[in-house]
Amino acid sequence: MSHTAYSQHFAQELDFKQLLKRRGVTASLEQVDYGLSQAERDWMRSDLLCPSCRCGGASLVRSDANGTGRNTRQAHFRFIDASGHTAHKLGCDFFAMDDVPGVQRGVDVQFSANDKDTKVIRELVCKAIAIGELSKPAIFEMRSWFLAQRDADAFEVKGTPAVADWLWSINRLQIYEALEFQPFHLIFPGFDTRRAALRDLAFYYRDFVKRIPRIGFDAAVRDRTKRILMANQGQRLIAMEPLRSRYEMTARLAGLMAAYGNLSLTRRRSLGSIYGDTPEALLAFTATLLFVSHWDENAALGRFAKIIAAATPDDLTLGNVIGLNPFHDFAALEVARFIAGLAPPSERAYDFEAELAGAIAKINAARG
Ligand SMILES: [Zn+2]
Repeated sequence: MSHTAYSQHFAQELDFKQLLKRRGVTASLEQVDYGLSQAERDWMRSDLLCPSCRCGGASLVRSDANGTGRNTRQAHFRFIDASGHTAHKLGCDFFAMDDVPGVQRGVDVQFSANDKDTKVIRELVCKAIAIGELSKPAIFEMRSWFLAQRDADAFEVKGTPAVADWLWSINRLQIYEALEFQPFHLIFPGFDTRRAALRDLAFYYRDFVKRIPRIGFDAAVRDRTKRILMANQGQRLIAMEPLRSRYEMTARLAGLMAAYGNLSLTRRRSLGSIYGDTPEALLAFTATLLFVSHWDENAALGRFAKIIAAATPDDLTLGNVIGLNPFHDFAALEVARFIAGLAPPSERAYDFEAELAGAIAKINAARG
């Protein structure tokens, strides 16, 4: 599901309020179908495209947010083919979200979750378009390039959500000094059994954790990975690794732009990650600037300097570029790809608590 759709008629990306306003249609928010006529629905289906992969089959649906108390009812666009399945191209950001027929509820769309960030980025994109540093065709060209890149490489999804939980715990061990337990450690006055057990596990997994993809593996990535594993078992998804150098460049420049531009964005800090401080919403904009600058960081930063100095245009609908972030789900897809290469859950128990209990038991046994 996407909060926006690309209108061929209006030649821009619109959310449902902007769309209905332009169409001169009033919707009843209380009704599940918004009280839209069949003719209006048919028009939408023929005109609207996915903002990411440009597939058709659009319909306006309502999803109830998951008990956060905010925005309990949100309008989304779904893109479904004649057989009732996802119409998105493989690799589209919205592919998995629209895969199950029937309205999904409680789906969180990460990059649209924060309205404040979206507003800041929308303004920047509008300015960029107004002064000619970005253009609609360039944005579309970037999406095509990216989907082609993603189509070129894929992996088969394997493993269970429990493996993702386990891997997250193992990755987290890196915050402890890796130290193999020795019975003489018990004489230290500051010895702490649980901590020593975690250090012992960190030592045991010290080579393994080096193989885990270098991404910001926080709880949000873990949960997103679990959803990917549940929804796409046995299917082929995009391997992101070939795009890593561009992703890293994007993340680095995004962080720089947030700092130099003094942008008031939400910060996401994750454990042991070099991109932990990169505001998610800024990645899309940064990637586009880099793309039109032929992946030259200085050229992109130069464009950003002009954009920052520009006046804010009146029409902010130009800046709807929700489906723009090519690296959306980079981290979760990388974790899923890594999990696909591990021994299957039928061959070993992925139970971190049991392993920790074992390490504690080993220490207690040394106490005698
Ligand atoms: Zn799509």
